[in-house]
Amino acid sequence: MGRPIFSLTRLSGGAQAALPVLMYHRVLPERDPLQAETHTARTMDTQFRTLARCFKALPLDEAASLLAEGRLPPRAISITFDDGYRDNHDIALPLLQRHGLTATFYVSSGFLNGGTMFHDVMVETVRHAPTGQLDLGLKDASPVILGDVASRVAALDALVRQVKYLDPVQRERLSERLLATLGHKAPHQLMMDDEQVRALTRAGMSVGGHTTQHLILARLDEAAAWEEIRSNADVLSNLTGQRITSFAYPNGKPGTDYGPQHVEMVRRAGFLNAVSTRSGVGTRSAPRFELPRFVLNETTTAGILMRMLRMTAYPVGEAA
Ligand SMILES: [Zn+2]
Repeated sequence: MGRPIFSLTRLSGGAQAALPVLMYHRVLPERDPLQAETHTARTMDTQFRTLARCFKALPLDEAASLLAEGRLPPRAISITFDDGYRDNHDIALPLLQRHGLTATFYVSSGFLNGGTMFHDVMVETVRHAPTGQLDLGLKDASPVILGDVASRVAALDALVRQVKYLDPVQRERLSERLLATLGHKAPHQLMMDDEQVRALTRAGMSVGGHTTQHLILARLDEAAAWEEIRSNADVLSNLTGQRITSFAYPNGKPGTDYGPQHVEMVRRAGFLNAVSTRSGVGTRSAPRFELPRFVLNETTTAGILMRMLRMTAYPVGEAA
C-alpha cells in the first residue's frame, strides 16, 4: 500500500507531531514586478486569516521545546520573519495583531537604523539602470542586458547569484559603490530602527538572532563567525531587555551557508534552538538547532490549506 497523501496524525499533536515553521522576509504594500515572489499585504492577510482559523501559532522557542518534548498541541505552527525589515513592523505586525497571531523576528542588527542589505541595493540598481548592458565589473561574471521587466527579473536573479557568495569585504565595497551610483534613488529606510524592534517585543512578539552583518557564516573564519553571532545576540538583548534564545542562519542552507561548527557556536552563544532555510517541517527527531522551514506562497484559502497539509505529510528527510 502506498503512503497516504495526508498524514493527519502529524497535525494532532504529541510525539508524532510535525511543526510547520513558516518563513517570511519582506511584505510589500503592493506587488512589485521585480520582486514578484515577495509577499504583499493582501496575500499575507489571506494567509494569516487562514492560519488563525485552522492552526495555533506559537513563538518558535515554545514550539521548539514542546516539539522536542513530544508535547506539541494539535495543529501547532510557528511564523518567522528574517532580516529586520521596516515593513515587518509597519505592515506585518498589524496583520498579526488583527488575526491574533504571534511571530518570531530574526534581526540582523547591523542594518538597523538606516542600513541597506545588499539584496535591496541590487533590486534598485537593476530597476533604475538604463536599457542596455549592465556590467558590475565582477571577475568571472558576464554582464547582463536590461530592457523590459522580464529581462530585469532575469538579470536580478543572475546578479544576486553572482554576488551572494562574494568575499564579504568585496561585497560590501560593491554595495557601497552601487548605493553611491543610485544617489537619491537608493533604497531609503528599508530596515527597522531600534524603537521598532522594541515595539515588536512590547506587542508580545519574539526577537531572534540573525548575525550582525548577515554574512554567510561558511565564508568567514572561526573568529569572525563567532563575533557575528555573539555581537548580534548582545545588541538584541540590550535592545529588547530579553535573552535572545532563537537563531536563524543567514541564507540558511545547511552545508553550504553554515556547517556543524556554526551549529556548535550558536549553541555555545546561549541560543536554545535555531532554524535553517531547508524546506520541510520539524519533527521530534529533527535537530533542534537546524529546524527546517518553508515559504507559503499560496494566495487562496484552499491552496494554503492544501500546502500546509502536503508539507506536514512529508516531514524533512521523509519527502516522497
Ligand atoms: Zn536573512
